[in-house]
Amino acid sequence: MPDLQTKRPFVSAAQLEAICARFPTPFYLYSEAEIRRRARAFNAAFAWNPGFCEYFAVKATPTPAILKVLGQEGCGCDCATGVELSLAQACGFGGNKVVFSSNDTPAADYRQADAMGALINLDSADMVACLREALGGRMPERVCLRVNPGQDIPGENGIIGTPRDAKFGMTVPQLLQAARDLRDLGVREFGLHAFLASNTQGEGYYPLLARMLFSLAVRLHDELGVRVTFVDLSGGIGVAYRPEDRPVDIAAIGEGVHTAFDEVLAPAGMTDVRVGSELGRWMLAPAGALVTRVIHEKVTYKDYLGVDACAADLMRPAIYDAYHHITVVGREDEPAAGTYNVVGRLCENNDQFAHDRPLPRVGVGDLLWIHDSGAHGRSMGYNYNGALRPAELMLREDGAVERIRRAETPADYFATLDEDPDPAVAALAQR
Ligand SMILES: *Cc1c(COP(=O)(O)O)cnc(C)c1O
Repeated sequence: MPDLQTKRPFVSAAQLEAICARFPTPFYLYSEAEIRRRARAFNAAFAWNPGFCEYFAVKATPTPAILKVLGQEGCGCDCATGVELSLAQACGFGGNKVVFSSNDTPAADYRQADAMGALINLDSADMVACLREALGGRMPERVCLRVNPGQDIPGENGIIGTPRDAKFGMTVPQLLQAARDLRDLGVREFGLHAFLASNTQGEGYYPLLARMLFSLAVRLHDELGVRVTFVDLSGGIGVAYRPEDRPVDIAAIGEGVHTAFDEVLAPAGMTDVRVGSELGRWMLAPAGALVTRVIHEKVTYKDYLGVDACAADLMRPAIYDAYHHITVVGREDEPAAGTYNVVGRLCENNDQFAHDRPLPRVGVGDLLWIHDSGAHGRSMGYNYNGALRPAELMLREDGAVERIRRAETPADYFATLDEDPDPAVAALAQR
């Protein structure tokens, strides 16, 4: 049985009860100090590359107060839709601080990305013509290309990525053709991008990916005479969701990429290549938790703890059967007293945060801390069963707690009915 004590909330039980007295559960709580610590550790690991930038994957945590903290730490934004571009822009990001890594992209989104000077990352060779048409025949100076090499990606424990099954990216021959076409249309600088495995454990993935993309950059330079100035390693670095997982050594990952850079790009004289990343999970997941209270207990064939959060607040367990560690707040040092299913109120049997989970003594009224929920947490939330998404709070470095997004109200849920011809229905949209 895992040691329940190795993962701890970043606030004390007393602090958390004080927060709950001001803000009703459920809510997300993020730690500004932890966000900054992670951004600094990551930037330090890549400090050997002068132009390095982490473009935070906005979809993971599209919350302005968080994007601004990351911006202060030198990060940029990775966006995939026009709405994400608008959010990044409102938070002060533009120009070379934005990468637009979209797929199946509408023309209007290309125009928006181009207008704010974002680096456009093309997911398919066909998008060369689409981009040109979207921009009325003009091409940006710099374009990035997303490759899907089709080969399985080996990791420490077998295969960690099967790119052939993914909808993303273009084949190498398609990429060479796209680069040739773009070159002939006047594009002056190229970026290369690939995202081949998710939540990788260990230190091998980024160096392996970097070696592959650096080699491709040299090939593009040699065969087509084009200038590759940017290599984007995208997302995919994992976090220790389980107490027995070992957190990755981010400094070793940076050094592994550095070695690949020295061995592949330096001999080709391409030392001006900027390296980039688009991490979501590694940057934010451990810096946020979903806090929820046990409101019911039911014992049938299992012991069910009913909480005031549900899969609409955090859907990873429901859709991927993902493990999120749970701490019974204030009982960090107590041994397991039983096994529980921690469930929400949706009329869907997959609305369960944990199955047969060993937990210390726990009952109605206890607060649960659902760890590592800071990325792909609230942002994936939905409104099934009329569930309303929770508030987000930030524990500032000085210990103050600020609400950075309010919880949804019924009026938010009904907002799109404001044009209903029935006044009784339209009235629901009024707060
Ligand atoms: C989702 C995504 C990311 C972030 O992935 P993580 O696994 O959270 O690091 C980065 N880039 C692109 C293009 C993505 O779609």
